[in-house]
Amino acid sequence: MFIHTLWLLALSGLAWWQSEQILHWPAAWLSLLDYAPYGIVAVGLFVGVFLNRIRPVAILLVLALSTFAFNYYAAIQPRTPDIPFFFVLLGLALPLNLFLWLFWPERGVRHWGFNLLTLAVLVLQMPLLQSLVYDLPPHWVEQLSAPISQDPLFVIHMPMVTTVVAIVLLNLMVVRMAMMRKPKVLDQVVLFVLVLMAYALNNLAIPELWNWMATIAALMVVLSLVFDVHQMAYTDELTGMAGRRALFESFMGLGRSYTVAMVDVDHFKKFNDTYGHDIGDLVLQTVSRVLSGVGGGGKAYRFGGEEFSVVFAGKTPEQAKPVLEVLRKQLETTELKFKHHGKDTTTKVTVSIGVAERNASFKTPEEVIKAADQALYQAKEAGRNRVVVFGEVKEVAKGQKSARIRKRKA
Ligand code: GH3
Ligand code: MG
Ligand code: MG
Repeated sequence: MFIHTLWLLALSGLAWWQSEQILHWPAAWLSLLDYAPYGIVAVGLFVGVFLNRIRPVAILLVLALSTFAFNYYAAIQPRTPDIPFFFVLLGLALPLNLFLWLFWPERGVRHWGFNLLTLAVLVLQMPLLQSLVYDLPPHWVEQLSAPISQDPLFVIHMPMVTTVVAIVLLNLMVVRMAMMRKPKVLDQVVLFVLVLMAYALNNLAIPELWNWMATIAALMVVLSLVFDVHQMAYTDELTGMAGRRALFESFMGLGRSYTVAMVDVDHFKKFNDTYGHDIGDLVLQTVSRVLSGVGGGGKAYRFGGEEFSVVFAGKTPEQAKPVLEVLRKQLETTELKFKHHGKDTTTKVTVSIGVAERNASFKTPEEVIKAADQALYQAKEAGRNRVVVFGEVKEVAKGQKSARIRKRKA
């Protein structure tokens, strides 16, 4: 999450810094700026549709439509008397739309009925806004569009209504994000988009600024798609912890000395069979939470099913074992509370752990994992709920070992 705040701040900084310079840009750059927002939006729409995401698609369409409306009124009809009111409406419609599309359910782009509804809401608001612009009495227009302050030293020049709405919506978005267990990058991006576009609305005297801000805002949405896909690929859905792909990628940066622990829930099938799959999932989430709190420089991953891996970079099994014992004991004493057939039920879960290190015999991550798996098998054989380091216990008979490994792979 923090890394996303960083790049968003960096992009906002760039947007703000260049907004001061825009009028000194070469003419060629400025004319490029007329098309830049649409170009980035087009790329984003392509990626968004490909990735089956309706929310970023709608947000990009809002950016393109508001940019078009802004340029139309700013460049083509600058003398319309209702212009001030148009900008008030734009200042209301844009934050309201960002808010709406952020809350819009993510149903993908393959649901035609839903696409039609989304499109209708997007398009039908335009004649509504248009009629508002033309039907309101002139003195209303004058009052509503009066900026908060004309003082050049004052930061906010947007009209009162627009400013209040933007600030309230921004706060609601922040609260919503704080309440989410796993906010998407897009949820954070929209906060920045709103601030950037509010900045553009405050500088209406420089029309180029709008296009510049819209370009950066659209770029943020496109990047959010990339990061969301990355997060999806590397995070395990059920537990929210790093998944198998992240595990194997982590080995690339580990160097020559590391230790891997394979953790397997004991008699996990029994949980599923006794209490159902949902409680099985709850068990996995609990195990994941405890493992994620691993100390001693370890990092936990969900390997798959009810198996987890903990990787210790630059550590030997002797150094890792006490840390793993802490985890094992912690799980052993953690009570799982849930309702089963309407009755409060309490149960406990234990894990068996096999540990191996990278050395002359096990050079690749796959070999180290296999060795840790053999140690895990020995831990199971020896009665479960224990940590066994590879080589610590005498080898088991080959036939038995491959039977377990076969079972794991099935
Ligand atoms: P052992 O002590 O020998 O490890 O016995 P076990 O019952 O834990 O081992 P086994 O491999 O037979 O059982 C694993 C079970 O895990 C089988 C499968 O249905 C279940 N499982 C795998 N992934 C999930 C999941 O995501 N959610 C739930 N609820 N169950 C899962
Ligand atoms: Mg297993
Ligand atoms: Mg198991």
